[in-house]
Amino acid sequence: MELWQRMIRDSVHTVDQLVEKFNIDRHAAESLDEFFQARINPYYLSLIRYPGDPIWLQCVPDKAELEDIDAAEDPLMEDAMSPVPNITHRYPDRALFLVTSQCGLYCRFCTRKRKVGDYEKISMRGLESAFQYLEQHTEIRDVILSGGDPLMLTDAMLEKILQRIRSIPHIEIIRIGTKMPCVLPHRITDKLTSMLKKYHPLYINTHFNHPWEITPESSKACEMLANAGIPVGNQMVLMKGVNDDPATVKELMHKLLKIRVRPYYMYMADETKGANHFRTSIETGLNIVENLRGHTSGLAIPHFVIDAPGGGGKIPILPNYVLHHDEEKIVLRNYQNKVYAYKNYKDKNNPAKKNGKAEKSSDGKNGKAKIKLPPRVNVKLPILEEVEN
Ligand code: SF4
Repeated sequence: MELWQRMIRDSVHTVDQLVEKFNIDRHAAESLDEFFQARINPYYLSLIRYPGDPIWLQCVPDKAELEDIDAAEDPLMEDAMSPVPNITHRYPDRALFLVTSQCGLYCRFCTRKRKVGDYEKISMRGLESAFQYLEQHTEIRDVILSGGDPLMLTDAMLEKILQRIRSIPHIEIIRIGTKMPCVLPHRITDKLTSMLKKYHPLYINTHFNHPWEITPESSKACEMLANAGIPVGNQMVLMKGVNDDPATVKELMHKLLKIRVRPYYMYMADETKGANHFRTSIETGLNIVENLRGHTSGLAIPHFVIDAPGGGGKIPILPNYVLHHDEEKIVLRNYQNKVYAYKNYKDKNNPAKKNGKAEKSSDGKNGKAKIKLPPRVNVKLPILEEVEN
């Protein structure tokens, strides 16, 4: 057994342990265990500094989880968009491939609480039909391995999956979504990175939510992945009491860049049953972006998105920097609320439209956009002088 596997075995997970370690009421601990089991490995446990701190909130069961019983179990409609077991096919050229139900830590805010931890719900029996689906759907260019956490599989099992995907000619990119570099960095071994780098182009998206999660161990894990030529991105979830202020997010983003992890997404928390107590207002998120943009480098700024309930996918949201836009110009404000105008470039000067013909794209197909945009929504524009204050 490898060190990381022993640490999983030694995790806090029983009702007795929860009552003893965290002083949780036994009745609540039993109900919570039935709703979504606990798994807190010794490494992540060691990061807790005091009860109720940002690390504690992410991993210790809380009776607030039992209160929003009316919320949806699957707000992103992943199951409705699942053509075969283990696959969610939401976007045209990408597919999500769930390869395990197990994780190195069970996060209390998890959006897949309905499945995670239950071997029956993400079963290895579904792998063959998933592979066949990927083989038959030549439009899929990019596969994201997720779960659970794919790095909970042994190196040998993970390699079998990677080999099979790499044998599909139309799949260009493999991505692995894993929280292991953050919650159990001991999982990133030389043996693992030597195996992974055989399957490039391979990307990893990991999931740090708070600066205290950047430790010597997690830094080393991320650097090992980067040294294996794997670009590592970070997906952060905005959560009440964890990271819902600009200073915390900025510190996290700066620390991630230092360990060669690129901030990728900052999500509004999903409307998931048992996780709504983590949700913040949208304004809180916009204020954080406002405090990053212009105040630090663009490298440190993740895309702020809402994963739309009902399966609409990720939709970016931004503070309103566009004050006015017409055929002549666009009027913008910068991070200091100074106002600037940028003249529009008229379409008649655009070489793409010369002689009334659309330019051909590099693959020889007609480059004319087929997407019909919805009509512009009329919004009341602010008065410029007000914005300058
Ligand atoms: S590691 Fe990911 S899938 Fe697993 S419990 Fe945490 S958020 Fe959910």
